[in-house]
Amino acid sequence: MKDRIDGHTILIGLMAYPIRHSMSPTMHNSAFAKLGLNNAYLAFEIDNKKLPGAINAIRTLGMRGSNISMPNKQKVIPLLDKLDPVAELIGAVNTVVNDDGVLTGYTTDGTGFMKSLADEGVDIGGQKMTLAGAGGAGTAIGIQAALDGVKDISVFNIHDQTWENAERMVKIINDKTNCQAKLFDLAEKKTFKAEIAGSMIYCDATGVGMKPLADKTLVSDPSWFRPEMIVFDTVYAPRTTKLMRVAQQAGVKHVLNGLGMMLEQGAEAFKLWTGKDMPIDYIRELLFKE
Ligand code: NAD
Repeated sequence: MKDRIDGHTILIGLMAYPIRHSMSPTMHNSAFAKLGLNNAYLAFEIDNKKLPGAINAIRTLGMRGSNISMPNKQKVIPLLDKLDPVAELIGAVNTVVNDDGVLTGYTTDGTGFMKSLADEGVDIGGQKMTLAGAGGAGTAIGIQAALDGVKDISVFNIHDQTWENAERMVKIINDKTNCQAKLFDLAEKKTFKAEIAGSMIYCDATGVGMKPLADKTLVSDPSWFRPEMIVFDTVYAPRTTKLMRVAQQAGVKHVLNGLGMMLEQGAEAFKLWTGKDMPIDYIRELLFKE
């Protein structure tokens, strides 16, 4: 660190709460060190109340930008000067870039999802997806997949505070893309099973499978899956969720956790701040070992 930090070091932040568990500081600082970039990435515990002051500090301190995570991804939007069109469609921002005091919001979660599939060698263009969960991650995944050519998306959600968001997302997909989307209640188990049966990819973006629901899964019967399909869980702690074990039992060829998505959303934010490609194989090696 003493070789890297000096009077010229440029700061990039991560503003969320809670955030101490995040892998992003290790990911970005390791990439800066590897490329010899004079940047430092620090996590700040910022909730909705502290957010306006923290965003203004990006300008005041001349920071290059920040990642934004829960609970601030939507709340940050009115505090910014500009919004990337895809972030506007998704209605959330996870990356802020400061160009001489002008703050622009981007979202890299959806492209991170799509790139992690490409890294696995799979292309879901023209295919059908069943998506459980239409919160922050689910919305980014659904809208980006639709923009990138997925032709049919069946979204399943519970009737909680994210239901309205799920309705908005489905409407945006139907109005603004060539993809056809439908929203279903997750309680309709027969429909859920039938939609998965007709899909090339099942993606769980609910967080079921991670603490405090670590031993739970929305699909517990391996017969719901087919070996040639893709099962994707956005969770990355634990590395193997109960859903992933069910898919493995079914002999599913492509069973993915959220680590690749995390890595690729970070790589895209890195490029927005530095103009450079993250040394992705080096970082993958660093992060993917248990
Ligand atoms: P969120 O709170 O915005 O949305 C949660 C979604 O899950 C909602 O649709 C909600 O209805 C649904 N849900 C919650 N509890 C449920 C339950 N018991 N049964 C069924 N559905 C339930 O959260 P988010 O930010 O979208 O995060 C969701 C998951 O995605 C988390 O596990 C998070 O860690 C993960 N995530 C991963 C990445 C990545 O890069 N891999 C990025 C963002 C989020």
